[in-house]
Amino acid sequence: MSATTAHSGRDDGIPAGRPVVFRDGLVLTMDDRRSVLPGADVLVVGERIRAVGHRLEVPEGTLEIDAGDGIVMPGMVDTHRHLWQTAMRGYGADWTLTQYFVWYYLEWGRVFRPQDIHAGNVLGAVEALDAGVTTTVDWSHGLRTVEHADAAVDALEAVPGRFVLAYGNIQQGPWEWSATPEFRDFVSRRMHGGGDMLGFQMAFDVTGDPAFPERAAFEVARDLGVPVTTHAGVWGATNDDGIRLMYDHGFMTPQTVYVHAATLTADSYNRIAATGGSVSVSTESEQSAGQGYPPTWRLRRHGIPVSLSMDTSVWWSGDLFSAMRATLGADRSREHMEAHAGQGTVTHCHLRAEDVVEWATRGGARTLGLDSAIGSLEPGKKADVVLIKNDRSPVMFPLLNPYGHVAFQAQRGDVHTVMVDGRVVKHEHRLLGVDLARARRSVEETVGYLRETLGEEAWAKGMNPDVPETKIQDNPYTYTDWDARDARWKGAPPSPAPEAG
Ligand SMILES: [Zn+2]
Repeated sequence: MSATTAHSGRDDGIPAGRPVVFRDGLVLTMDDRRSVLPGADVLVVGERIRAVGHRLEVPEGTLEIDAGDGIVMPGMVDTHRHLWQTAMRGYGADWTLTQYFVWYYLEWGRVFRPQDIHAGNVLGAVEALDAGVTTTVDWSHGLRTVEHADAAVDALEAVPGRFVLAYGNIQQGPWEWSATPEFRDFVSRRMHGGGDMLGFQMAFDVTGDPAFPERAAFEVARDLGVPVTTHAGVWGATNDDGIRLMYDHGFMTPQTVYVHAATLTADSYNRIAATGGSVSVSTESEQSAGQGYPPTWRLRRHGIPVSLSMDTSVWWSGDLFSAMRATLGADRSREHMEAHAGQGTVTHCHLRAEDVVEWATRGGARTLGLDSAIGSLEPGKKADVVLIKNDRSPVMFPLLNPYGHVAFQAQRGDVHTVMVDGRVVKHEHRLLGVDLARARRSVEETVGYLRETLGEEAWAKGMNPDVPETKIQDNPYTYTDWDARDARWKGAPPSPAPEAG
């Protein structure tokens, strides 16, 4: 049925257009009622789900995938991932946020060439598919020229997943790069006609400078009709001032995505809730880099919609199993600590496994305005489907609590089959239509170039860089002199303390 060609290392697998049925799986539909269907089938014809139910009749020639002993669920959605940084996989495992800013923003982000963006993007995009993440927002803030942006999109188009390019550039003010004719030209050349396979956002942060220079970039986004995604509530970088400026100038919309939103007061959460935006929570990132305590406990109280994200593989993994697990842990850990501080005991956890599975699927779809297309397994929706099944694993049985199994038991190695837009891109634990050998060669070339450019001493030192005597701790953005020192966030501690307001 499938063949591997010796030269490319690419396995094209199952012909596109052939109907596929997942047979006899435990189906998590993630529909409005969160219906769970044991022993059920999911039939896909063309790019859409035709039917979900028991013992479905299927068209002649349908490929049957045995989902017995497995879980069938919607493809996962990562709403904030710096794919270009995958070329530096694991390099910054021990970094703090300040060291990250030193390495990427201040010192070395500017040496990445278009082909380096391409190499990181391809690897990160393939990694996402392998882990069952069928939609990824590429928060691409290394685009210091339009050639870099073209390389980023070339990479996304070369990988058979669903993507959103979130265009950014940490080396220049957003009011500068978004005003250039080259940027407008790029948008009209590359960002139309991709339908729901390739979306577009603008990605930049709001420093809190009262002159609000970011206003010009928000106006470009409004003019283009595209959402803005912004790192908000990040200790030492962005705070309530940025949210207030966005609010006062009318730039907080239901499409706006606030990434992290960890170091904020109740005023800001009220503004986000009132304007209908959502928060992309990167729990592993917030726990170890220092943006603030993972905020799901506060977002729940304010009724703010949540999606999950992995941020960057320069530190962490790129799979949402990690995100679901870490998010449950952080939310529950804080809940227990608050109860103990009042001599109490939590008897029932607020955050349930089914909640994080919803955030990882439908929550992401809603965040991206794609809820009518993806995010659940329902007839008529686009077929982004994941089968979790591993007959060789002692962890795949017994299968008693499907949401708990996804959140706490399964991992990327258990992802058996992945389908995007009706196309099988991974089957029987093997990626199809992906040239992994070529991706590896490109990343090795990038790593070689970077080592040579930095020199061996700087390369080794970069894993634990010194923090120079600059303003970086109060302003990581090299394109502005705005110094947040005098406006340092003065709210209640963002550590796991009871909410003050
Ligand atoms: Zn980020």
